[in-house]
Amino acid sequence: MINQPILTIVVPCYNEEEVFQATYKQLREVMLHLITECHIHPESKILFVDDGSKDSTWQLIETVYKQDDLINGLKLSRNFGHQRALLAGLEKANTYSDCIISIDADLQDDIDVIKEFVLKYLEGYDIVYGVRESRKTDSFFKRTTAIGFYRIMEKLGLPLIYNHADYRLLSKRAVETLLQFKEVNLFLRGIVPLVGFKSTKVFYDRKERLAGESKYPFKKMISFAFDGLTSFSVKPIRFITILGFLSAVVSVIAGIYVFIEKLLSHPVSGWASIMISLWFIGGLLLMSIGLIGEYIGKIYEEVKQRPRYIIDQSLLHEIHTQQDLEQKQKVLN
Ligand code: UDP
Ligand code: MG
Repeated sequence: MINQPILTIVVPCYNEEEVFQATYKQLREVMLHLITECHIHPESKILFVDDGSKDSTWQLIETVYKQDDLINGLKLSRNFGHQRALLAGLEKANTYSDCIISIDADLQDDIDVIKEFVLKYLEGYDIVYGVRESRKTDSFFKRTTAIGFYRIMEKLGLPLIYNHADYRLLSKRAVETLLQFKEVNLFLRGIVPLVGFKSTKVFYDRKERLAGESKYPFKKMISFAFDGLTSFSVKPIRFITILGFLSAVVSVIAGIYVFIEKLLSHPVSGWASIMISLWFIGGLLLMSIGLIGEYIGKIYEEVKQRPRYIIDQSLLHEIHTQQDLEQKQKVLN
């Protein structure tokens, strides 16, 4: 009895009213199974984090919280983005849980492997990564851009787990360690592997979104990828330096060419080539400045040390652990 861990499943939700009921029912089912099979503590919870939704998501969370002891809710003061909503959930849940699983509200990730996550945890793993076996159900566009993203990240030397999104189990101490990473620019997928500890992977098939639309349109995806890139690697800056060096070499060669032309007293014929290189160098410069600016912006944000999320309301059921009960018993005696 004592060895059963308290599990919390953290579910960030942004405008998810269309899928909420289905998600709630399915996750609840899984939880109840795990509890009756004695894999997890009966006080385990599902924590829905409302990331400043504009629809009725929070009202739905409140309603199920009132009806169901299994459900906790957290409301952020505004929309902070998936990563921060998740972080808020992790931090809150870690105050009372032994292990935490994070999953998207649309249940694109197979909930049947939650049990495997827990079993791995019970075997002594601190981090269990859910890894997509195939991307059949993603659109062609999403699939290719995602694969490209992992390729680029790999080239840049980032320790990303291939085809792993934010579906994973973390032990209490893994979350505690994660929370010591204080950067405002969060990219959990990049940070979690840096935590270390004993980790493993569980494979599953990714499904279609239950309902509603992807909250990651193209623009957000690009900025997410770019954020991930510049948060973890200075290699892009190095690349720019090399490019600058190369273009300098090219211009020296061009200079020599012009000089020789002059010695041979050919008529000046280089207007076009001069214009081209002018634009080329100009473009290169602007690009370099932009990129360096991007990093300075990052530093600026980090230096300000703003809170990563703000909690508006938290609905948490009181947890009665075995220890609590024993403590109470002692006080009574
Ligand atoms: N999400 C969030 N805040 C946001 C955007 C998304 O909390 O600003 C949540 C969303 O509710 C979902 C998860 O993050 O649970 C992943 O979003 P989505 O399924 O739209 O992304 P995709 O699977 O298309 O990458
Ligand atoms: Mg999704």
